[in-house]
Amino acid sequence: MNWEPWTGCYKASDGCANCYFYGPHAKRYGQSTIQKTDKFDWPIKTNAKGEYNIKGNKILATCFATDFFLPEADEWRKEVWSIIKERTDIDFLILTKRIDRFLVSLPSDWGTGYDNVNMGCTVENQQAADDRLPLFLSYPMKRRFIACAPLLEAIDLTPYLHGVDHVTVGGETGREARECDYDWVLNIREQCVKANATFWFKNTGSLFKRDSVVEKINPFKQAGMAKELGINISDGKKS
Ligand code: SF4
Repeated sequence: MNWEPWTGCYKASDGCANCYFYGPHAKRYGQSTIQKTDKFDWPIKTNAKGEYNIKGNKILATCFATDFFLPEADEWRKEVWSIIKERTDIDFLILTKRIDRFLVSLPSDWGTGYDNVNMGCTVENQQAADDRLPLFLSYPMKRRFIACAPLLEAIDLTPYLHGVDHVTVGGETGREARECDYDWVLNIREQCVKANATFWFKNTGSLFKRDSVVEKINPFKQAGMAKELGINISDGKKS
């Protein structure tokens, strides 16, 4: 399930170049208009019996269609942190390209982190990894993952994998998509094996290079094809 307490975004780095905010979504809503959605307090909304509308034991992908740390949302984020704090029975999965803003509006009782927050830092190339991951590792958090998406080149994550539970990798989707080379994916997987981190190849992207051949992949087949390659590493298979 996704929870988008606000909508709108704008480019943070190279990985954003073909974000859907620059496609039809932008024409409809305005690419950089940041506004609260009607789902802002959705996790704490209750029905007539006083029960939460969203039952517990769920994972809520939070701000996957915007950025949790946009400056425009600094005030709203204080409220969102308190919503997250209230729903200890839900895991909030937060993904950002703006990890440098992590400390802004952080609740005073954050301490070493809330147990129900799993924070993801997105890095699309080596530069983004070297800029963002040292910061990411320096902040107090209970659970961390790295998302290499869209993967734009080979990335050495080795210096940063200590203290990270999981790495997700995915190619870029869309008409202007840049190539994703399977060798880059396998290389990151190897780094995860050595660091004892779990690994998920989420999707191939629209232009997937394997064995020196570049193939155009239909958006609806990209996740299935990545899965078929059978390279994911779950907890049980960590070596
Ligand atoms: S940060 Fe994410 S949502 Fe925002 S423009 Fe970049 S890719 Fe799109």
